Order: sequence, then C-alpha cells, then structure tokens
Amino acid sequence: MTATRTPGLPAIEDGLLISTSPATGAEAGRVPVCDEKAVAATVERAAAAGLWWAGLGFDARKVRLLRWRALLTARIEELAELTHAETGKPRTDAIMETVAAIEHIDWAARNARRVLGPRRVGTRVLVAEHVGHLEYQPYGVVGIIGPWNYPILTPLGPASGALAAGNAVVLKPSEYTPMVGQWLADTFAEVVPEHPVLQTVHGLGDVGAALCRSGVGKIAFTGSTATAKKVMAACAENLVPVIIEAGGKDALIVDADADVEAAAEAAVWGAMTNAGQTCIGIERAYAVAPVYDAFVAAVVARAGKLTMGDEIGPMTMPGQIDVVRRHIDAALADGGRAVLGGAGAVQAPSVAPTVLVDVPEDSVAVREETFGPTLTIARVADADEALTRANALPYGLGGAVFGKQNGIRIARRMRAGMVSVNATLSFVGMAGLPFGGVGESGFGRIHGDDGLREFGRAKAITVRRAPSLLPSMTFERTPAQVRRIVKAVKLLYGRRP
Ligand code: NDP
Repeated sequence: MTATRTPGLPAIEDGLLISTSPATGAEAGRVPVCDEKAVAATVERAAAAGLWWAGLGFDARKVRLLRWRALLTARIEELAELTHAETGKPRTDAIMETVAAIEHIDWAARNARRVLGPRRVGTRVLVAEHVGHLEYQPYGVVGIIGPWNYPILTPLGPASGALAAGNAVVLKPSEYTPMVGQWLADTFAEVVPEHPVLQTVHGLGDVGAALCRSGVGKIAFTGSTATAKKVMAACAENLVPVIIEAGGKDALIVDADADVEAAAEAAVWGAMTNAGQTCIGIERAYAVAPVYDAFVAAVVARAGKLTMGDEIGPMTMPGQIDVVRRHIDAALADGGRAVLGGAGAVQAPSVAPTVLVDVPEDSVAVREETFGPTLTIARVADADEALTRANALPYGLGGAVFGKQNGIRIARRMRAGMVSVNATLSFVGMAGLPFGGVGESGFGRIHGDDGLREFGRAKAITVRRAPSLLPSMTFERTPAQVRRIVKAVKLLYGRRP
C-alpha cells in the first residue's frame, strides 16, 4: 500500500484520493487519481463524445438535459446527503444549492437554440448582394475546474451552458469534493449513456494544470485569484481561452432610507450562509450614519441566534480556519472591536459568527477575502463615501444595496459584476442574468445569454445572392465602378451629423 499525506491536503492511498468529512473525519468516498496521460486520454474520449453530442442538435440535447434536470430533482436529498458528508455543509444548504443548479440546467437547455442557433444578420448597402449568417459553434471539449465551497452549483453553472451549447465537458472537481463531482458525472451518464459527454478527472492541482494543457477548447475556472493566474499562464501556452470566476470581498451598502431590519436579515444571510465560504458572500457592510447603530444592533441580534451545525457548518478546507483566524486577529489588532464572536469564535473545525466594527479600511480583514462567517461593518457619512470605500479593492465580484430612492443608482456605481438591491446574493439564482466579476474577481460570464455565448465560437458566414452592384472586392472592378463606390460612400457617410 502506498500512501501520500501532505499536511492540509486530502490523503491519497494506492492511487485513490480519499474524501473525508471536515466535521467528523469520516470517509465520504474515494476516487482514482489521474496522471497526465489519463487526463489526455479522457480529453480524447471527450472530443469524440463531443462530436456526437454536437451532432444531436439543440432539441435532442435539450431533451437529454431536461431528463438530467429531472433526475437531479428526484434525487435531490441523496445529493444533499453526499454533499453534507463531503463538505460538512448543512443539508438544507446543499438542497438550496442543488435547486439553483437545477434552475441553470433548465434555463440553458431551453434557451440555447435562441441564443446560439443560426440566424440571419442584416446586411449593409455596400455589401447588399450578400446575406449574413451567424451561429455559435461549440469548442468541442470544455474543461471545468471547480472549487470546494459550492461543489454542485459552481461546476454546473458553466457545465449547463457548455453542454447546452454542444460541448463535451471534462470536470476537475476540487480535491476536497471529488465525490460530488463524480456523482454529477455518473448521473449524467445515466441519462446520456451513449458516449462520455461529461467526465471527471481527479487529483490535486497538477491535474487541473494538466487539463489546461490537454488540448481542451476552453477552460472555465472557478477558484481563487492566485490559482486563476496559474491557470491563465498554463492556458496561454496554447492560446486556450479561459473564463475566470475568482474570489471577492463583496460589500453591502445600507442607505439612509433602507428597511434596516430587512437589510440586517439579508446581511446575516449573505455573510454567514455556507459558513461564509461563498465567493459572493457579503464580507463588508457600509451603513450611513443615521441607520448605523440600528443596523449593527439588528445584525448582531440575528447573527447571534444562528446555531452551530444546523445553520453554520464547519470550514470545509482545514487551511481556511487559519485565514479566518488571521483576519479576526488582524481586525482586533488594527483597532477594531468584535460586537459578536471574535478571537474565541475560531474553534476548529468551525468558526462562530463574528461581527467586527471600527476596523480600519487598510486592515487585511477589510481588504482580503476571509471566506468565513465574519462581517465588518463601517459607519459612513453617505452613499458616496460608501461607494468610494466599497470600490476601493482590486476585487469586484458582487455586491448589494439596501435603500428605496437610490438603490439602483447606487448599484450601477458599484464596481462589481452583479449587485442585488434590497436583497443579497439573489442574482446567482436568476438564470437569465450573467454571473461574473471584474478586476481580480475575473472575467467572462456564466449563466444567461452571455454565459451561453462563452461556450460557442461565433461563426460568421456570408452567402452571395446576386451580382455585385458596387464590387469592391475584386481585381476586376473598373474605374467607373470605383467612382460609383466613392459616390455611394460619400452619400452614405459623408454628411457630418
Ligand atoms: P483554488 O483556487 O485553490 O482551487 C480551485 C480549483 O483549481 C481546484 O479544483 C484546484 O484543485 C484547482 N487547481 C489548483 N492548482 C491548480 C493549477 N496550478 N492549475 C489548474 N488548477 C489548479 O480555490 P478553492 O478550491 O480554495 O476555492 C475557493 C476560492 O474560489 C475562493 O477564492 C472563492 O472566492 C472562489 N470562488 C469563486 C466563485 C466565483 O464564481 N467567482 C465561486 C466559488 C468560489 P485542488 O483543489 O485539487 O487544489
């Protein structure tokens, strides 16, 4: 028996990656680890499967994706149980995560033809003899590299778009959540048994790196900003395009006319759900002076009632506990105060809800992604100051605003890819809207029309339907025809507006 144990990483024994519960240490399952050759072989099989899958066309793919959606729905409790066993997250959180993923599969299946299918494009006078055609053709194989915090939703967001667009998918789940990734591939194979259209490759970071270099047509990466840079560097070697869904430090702005109780309820949900291990989790709140005290009191009252285990699960990745502890300690050392939780809140494998106030803006607790059930709240003079502070970080994933008069105006000015007004995190479940960030939070989009388009290459085709009246693209044009073209251009574009 050969065993590899790297501190902080899951064990590998006899070529099998062992997944364990962060809450109890109990084994959740084991999967074979891939080497570079196995990754290449998987991608090769996927390429063949992708040809078949693309050839089915939109309607046949839609039927199969909707069957998979129905299977996930029927077995939602089973998936929640497995996710609970592997990540420690409360079963109800796993159910809600699956519900969101089901929404995305349904939406992508139903909308792929509309967004990606062939259509005519209006022509222009100078090329009036040609008809324009546009369609979005699949990349062949899309590699998806996913994190551990939402092991169902984060791969299925891009996978639903990639599959609906006609690509085969090779998924590299996080080493902390291989069983959930495998369950997704196995259930897909139940409804699409003909070819391996959705496969997994398992292992540590090197397997993700091998996937980037394996000849896939595109990589959809979800994970930390630091790893995103490595993924981009590996993909750059072969000009493989990437979508990057990276980390965040999302802010909530509470304006003077906000419903303070509703804002507090949503802040606690946005900051503490999944024990704060949420890329779009609210980590900072900026409340304007007139509502600041009431907001802090309401947040503390609500967050203080959350129950450990049922509502706040353990940290899924053991190493994250040290990050959370470092941020809480830094906030206190930098002059902040814990009005709930604090240094004693970190009790491995869990962290109790922690609310921090008076933390200077240059503290790591305000500037870096904490990924724990913590929230800093700062008092600001007005929405302008809140915006300046909210927008001051290199991250720009999501955000939220509570306020009546100016909610949307403030949302527009937040430097973020997505903002909820009078709610938190709500955009992630709205399948028609694009999801993705700016700056160090990444680029490219999943979900919605924009998300679907990421998984097809725009293909432009022109078809001549008549002889050219203004033949510019031929050596055989005559001087008279050139004069006519010049006359037409002057007529069309010569006037100053
Ligand atoms: P990581 O960046 O550590 O890992 C993400 C994935 O990349 C894992 O599957 C990992 O494999 C793999 N990987 C590691 N090294 C490499 C490499 N050199 N080349 C290719 N792949 C590699 O992120 P976490 O799993 O810790 O996830 C948490 C992060 O994800 C947070 O920053 C969070 O904000 C972000 N996130 C962003 C979301 C978004 O939509 N914007 C959504 C959810 C999370 P392994 O696990 O085996 O190391």
